[in-house]
Amino acid sequence: MHHAASSLAFEVQRLDVFVFRAPADPPVQTSFGTMRDRPAVLLRVTDAAGVSGWGEIWCNFPIVGAEHRARMAAYYLRPQLEGQRWDSPQSCFRALNEAFAVLAIQCGEPGTLHQIVAGVDVALWDMLARRAGQPLWRFISDREGTVSAPIPVYASGLNPTAPEQLAATKLAEGYRAFKLKVGFGAARDETNLRAMREVIGPDAPFMVDANQAWTLEQALQAGHAMERHGLGWLEEPMRADAPLPDWERLASAQPLALAGGENLAGTDAFDAFTASPALSVLQPDLGKWGGITGCLAVGRLAMERGKLLCPHWLGGGIGLTASFHLKAAVGGPGYVEVDANPNPLRDLLATPPFTLHDGAVLLDAAPGLGVEPDLLATRDFLVSVAGT
Ligand SMILES: [Mg+2]
Repeated sequence: MHHAASSLAFEVQRLDVFVFRAPADPPVQTSFGTMRDRPAVLLRVTDAAGVSGWGEIWCNFPIVGAEHRARMAAYYLRPQLEGQRWDSPQSCFRALNEAFAVLAIQCGEPGTLHQIVAGVDVALWDMLARRAGQPLWRFISDREGTVSAPIPVYASGLNPTAPEQLAATKLAEGYRAFKLKVGFGAARDETNLRAMREVIGPDAPFMVDANQAWTLEQALQAGHAMERHGLGWLEEPMRADAPLPDWERLASAQPLALAGGENLAGTDAFDAFTASPALSVLQPDLGKWGGITGCLAVGRLAMERGKLLCPHWLGGGIGLTASFHLKAAVGGPGYVEVDANPNPLRDLLATPPFTLHDGAVLLDAAPGLGVEPDLLATRDFLVSVAGT
């Protein structure tokens, strides 16, 4: 670790919550729903010395849910944080989860509360790394250097409507790995898989995501049917809450490696899925559960147990950048997911923008996340802001 224990103590003086919505053109299609606009919820924490940190709360679904999460964050996080001294983000993470445990049951929204805790955890780590003058990837790891190791990325969110066209654009931009949405009927999926391979070539890393579309039997069939396309993984082929023995059966009875994790929450769930042979690829979403604190631990566990860590992200630029730092800190093979669809909130909420070098991103030594939201350029997308 590139920090002394004392450098983790903090006191938040101010919490700001921002909601943005930008048009999605074209809409983003998954097997369970279509997004016609792109939301983002950002948190900014500031300490008494005026050092700030940014975090992002996962808020893609339900489609109307971003504003609700922002209200939850402003109302419930503020009294927990403001005026309290914590000795580390980890102790704050544990205390927040404990403080919200009964509320989560009472309101039937464990997910919402996990998400606001995840978002603020990222903001706290950013603030502490900035205060220490260290890039976040180095602050949370024992890695050295002024530039991170290359972080491979893949172009994600390729819709079932002419995906090869967007893939061609992304190939020209420097992407070398791709992931297609499937679960739209076997014939349409097969047509898209062929069209994709024609554009990206036979050797490019190529993955598919079914977004929980199938039963176990359908998933078994799909795994066999898709084998010939040389896929890196099959993601969430069935419901994420299917029993672990079903996942293990699916893994052993069809040829594709399985991926999942964006719909897992909690230390116990990740412990069980990293210990099982079911998933080869773990994909925690640091704005959905865990933030840096939880997902760094998951990443290290995944590495110890021979899994790939491939952070899930399909939101705005702060969460994406935090995912780069998480992957850089954990290391090992695997990719960070980068949404291929146009989204001004991905590009403008994290400036300067990242650049690709041979399909990978490099992080420099700029403190914290190393990016700032461009609040002027995104002002037309700002829905609300709640400050202390
Ligand atoms: Mg997915």
